[in-house]
Amino acid sequence: MDTAFALEPGLYIVAGPIGNLGDLTPRAAQVLRLADVIAVEDTRVSARLLRAAGSDRPMLPYHDHSAENVRARLVDRMAGESVALLSDAGTPLISDPGYKLVRDARAAGRMVTTLPGPSAAIAALTLSGLPTDRFLFMGFLASKAKARGDALDEVAALRATLVFYESGPRLSESLSAMAAHLGDREAAVSREISKTFEETVTGRLSELSARYADAPPKGEIVVVVGPPGDAPPASVEDTDAALREALTRLPVSKAAGEVAKKFGLDRRALYDRAMELKG
Ligand code: SAM
Repeated sequence: MDTAFALEPGLYIVAGPIGNLGDLTPRAAQVLRLADVIAVEDTRVSARLLRAAGSDRPMLPYHDHSAENVRARLVDRMAGESVALLSDAGTPLISDPGYKLVRDARAAGRMVTTLPGPSAAIAALTLSGLPTDRFLFMGFLASKAKARGDALDEVAALRATLVFYESGPRLSESLSAMAAHLGDREAAVSREISKTFEETVTGRLSELSARYADAPPKGEIVVVVGPPGDAPPASVEDTDAALREALTRLPVSKAAGEVAKKFGLDRRALYDRAMELKG
C-alpha cells in the first residue's frame, strides 16, 4: 500500500527507538519503507529495526567521519531520491552521526525534514524530577580526568539542569568528578529507558557515586544533574568553614569561586565574605 506513494527527494532524519521497538512512530516506519536509500551507522543493528518496520530498502553505512565523497554522493542523490538517515538508537545527530550531512544537504539546497521521536536525553530529563525549564545537553564526558574536569568547570556556574550520556563502568567515577566540580547537587541516574529493566535512581551526586562504586550498573545510562540553586541552602557555618579552608590554599577570588561552585552560591557574596574572614 505504502509503495503506491513516493517520497519527495531530499533528506529524512528518522528517529528510531531507544530500546522498545514499539516506540518507532508510524510515520517514521513509513519513511523507512519508502526511502530510496537509508544511511545507517551499523547495518546489522539497523537491519533489525527495518525488519520490524517491514522495510526492505537498501542501507548504506554513514558516519560524519566517512570519506568526504561518501557524504557528497549522498547529497547528490538527494537531488532526485529520498535519503533516510537512521541511527543505531534514538534521534540521529544527538551524540550520533548526521550533523555534517544535514549541513551539506542544506548548503546544496536539498529538502531536509525530520521524523521526530525518542531521544534518551529528553526521556531521562522527564524521568528525573529535576527542573526542565532550562537544560544543557552535555553528551559524553571525556574519559581523561583533566578534560572531564575542564568541561565540568566550564558549565558549573550555569543555572541549568545538565544531561550527560554515560556507560556503566565509568559511572561512579564520573558522578564523583561531577560532585567535585559542580558541587554535591541533586541528580538522577536513568538506565535502560523503555526496556525491561528500566530504572531511575535519584539522590545527591556523592550518594549516587558511592552506590555505584562497587556495583557498576549494566546497560545504557543517562545522568541528569540539577542546577546549582537546587542544592539545599548551605549554613553560614558550612560556607565559612569551607571558605577558611580554601583560603589556606588559594587567593581570595579563587577561594570564593571554589566555594560558590561547591554550594551553588553567588561568587560575589562569597568574595565579600572571604575578604571579611581574611581581614
Ligand atoms: N541518538 C541517541 C539518542 O537520541 O538518545 C543517543 C546515541 S548515544 C551514541 C548512546 C547513549 O545514549 C548511550 O550510551 C546512553 O548514554 C544513551 N542511551 C541510549 N539509549 C538509552 C536507554 N534506553 N536508556 C538510557 N540511556 C540510553
